[in-house]
Amino acid sequence: MNFHVLTLFPEMIEQGLGTSITGRAMNKGLVSLHAVNIRDYAANKHKKVDDYTYGGGAGMLMQAQPVYDACMAVQESLEKPARVVYMTPQGSIFNQEKAKELALEEDLIILCGHYEGIDERVLEEVVTDEISIGDYVLTGGELPAMVVIDTISRLIPGVLGNGVSADTDSFMNGLLEYPQYSRPEIWRDKAVPPILLSGDHAKVDRWRKQQSLLRTKQRRPDLYEKYMKEHPDAEKDCK
Ligand code: SAM
Repeated sequence: MNFHVLTLFPEMIEQGLGTSITGRAMNKGLVSLHAVNIRDYAANKHKKVDDYTYGGGAGMLMQAQPVYDACMAVQESLEKPARVVYMTPQGSIFNQEKAKELALEEDLIILCGHYEGIDERVLEEVVTDEISIGDYVLTGGELPAMVVIDTISRLIPGVLGNGVSADTDSFMNGLLEYPQYSRPEIWRDKAVPPILLSGDHAKVDRWRKQQSLLRTKQRRPDLYEKYMKEHPDAEKDCK
């Protein structure tokens, strides 16, 4: 999968995603990251990309022309038009379902705003999806873009490493994940649940499902209710 990020701060994106699992995924060629500096497309000699907002008010707004030209340059380099996601607090809230949907794309263009945001006219022209990472306002779209790219990347086969999959993670099947333990068996007088040491895989699976349901019920009653509507026998099945 190829991510093309339109930003005024490409080094922030490259450095943020260039380490750990996403960095390795790029080195292995499982994902590619192309951070495009919108400033390179400014048509004026001072490479200015922002200006005052019409109607007054504090703060600067990113202008339409450089954003449009940067986006068109990426679109023209691709075989078929890609979806263009604008990171904005006004978009629909990002979740695992949206990540799964976007992970099916071959190319994805992600547009990051800064300052007061971006001139509405270019958004109307180029954007296909608007995504928010939550009901709060950040200084720019770079961190939200990294959140989206990281989440999508770990769904791409091979990114998490051989044989590791995101399938049991929280939200993948509508529930929170069960608690997990590693060595030693006893730490500060706390023992690992004995069933996990039993070697009985069917029992372990049932216990994990029970724990998953319990956690979701306690911590995210909204998700639990939705899941139980779709799987009315879930509690009974893991008894
Ligand atoms: N004036 C805008 C508003 O009130 O809707 C907020 C602009 S914000 C200071 C600057 C940029 O940060 C936005 O253009 C967007 O790209 C990004 N941003 C801020 N908060 C975000 C969020 N919760 N989710 C996604 N992007 C966000």
